[in-house]
Amino acid sequence: MLDDLARIGHDPKTNGYVRDAWSAADLELREWFRGEAGPLGLDVREDRNGNLWAWWGDPSRKPGVVTGSHLDSVRQGGAFDGPLGVVSAFAALDLLRRRGVRPAKALGVACFTDEEGARFGVPCVGSRLLTGALTPDRALGLTDDAGDTLADVLTRAGRRPGDLGKDDETLAMVGTFVELHVEQGRGLAATGSPVGVASAIWPHGRWRFDFRGRADHAGTTRLEDRDDPMLPFARMVLAAREAAVRHGVVATVGRARISPGNTNAVPGLVSAWLDARGADEADVRALVAELAEGAGVEAAEESWTPVVDFEAGLRDRLAAVAGRAAARPEGAPGEARDPARAEAAPVPVLPTGAGHDAGILAAAGVPTAMLFVRNPTGVSHSPDEHADPADCEAGVAALASVLEDLCR
Ligand SMILES: [Zn+2]
Repeated sequence: MLDDLARIGHDPKTNGYVRDAWSAADLELREWFRGEAGPLGLDVREDRNGNLWAWWGDPSRKPGVVTGSHLDSVRQGGAFDGPLGVVSAFAALDLLRRRGVRPAKALGVACFTDEEGARFGVPCVGSRLLTGALTPDRALGLTDDAGDTLADVLTRAGRRPGDLGKDDETLAMVGTFVELHVEQGRGLAATGSPVGVASAIWPHGRWRFDFRGRADHAGTTRLEDRDDPMLPFARMVLAAREAAVRHGVVATVGRARISPGNTNAVPGLVSAWLDARGADEADVRALVAELAEGAGVEAAEESWTPVVDFEAGLRDRLAAVAGRAAARPEGAPGEARDPARAEAAPVPVLPTGAGHDAGILAAAGVPTAMLFVRNPTGVSHSPDEHADPADCEAGVAALASVLEDLCR
């Protein structure tokens, strides 16, 4: 499945992926999702917000157990962030089928729309709309670099912008959500375990800083006559790094728009986006306030996600089941039969600085957990992102056991 996906949105020049929401690549990924669900006999539905669901069984009678992730990517991202969770979901369902499991609850595979926010700047648009964390008015007005709003883009993709909004009916079908994801750090590499479970997602947000100056000629304007917004922008980037060290958080300026953007002109406006995250909300807030004050401009908050502490009972249950799956002999069905193996150690539990749709669902009160698959270098949001095939298979085995346990 990963090989099938490898051609979609692939940039041969960088070996990275560009899979913006509602782009041609995204529409192709959606077709791929339907194509995988069909042969497995799953019932595919697209909800009001463009999220895809493939169901084994009927979740309208009794809430189901859902797994999945997203298929969109950051620009020039890797092959695993998102797709590994969707691919593993299909593979785990297939494995349960072949083991002859008859789930007492419906099992679903989800693919959330626009998790990365690469095109419109706001992450987790599909899951936020679903839970009501993002209003349709705000979503529809989001604008991409070409000046098209989400409303324009949806219309062009044959969807109805008026359908967007909180979707309690769909959300009610999700009794439990488990997202498998490639790890985006080296926590597991340090433990020697191919699979782990998330304890928490750090609080994180995105802020826009607009530095205004005066556009002018790069050759004829004397230095003392310039009002060059690149200078306060550059100072802010350096201050962000320094403040992040001091507050014990991470802060990144990964995107800026320079207007008019001519080599031979002093810019008139620089808009820069700050991403800041940390274990403690107060530290993140203090950093942003300090940067805004130092720069003398407003830090416009474009998104904010509070800390997500995954529910401890579900987290520990997953860690135990995944630990037993790892100790089981290759291909053996069901629970570990060997009593010694039944006592296998749980897989590691670790926090993450990365946001996920699982965090949005957890914040909306859905019992939610995450499985991580080892990333040997920790590199993510880059073409170099990697997970070994054997670790991906261990992830599928763990996910299948977790789903079997949860859908009893
Ligand atoms: Zn992701």
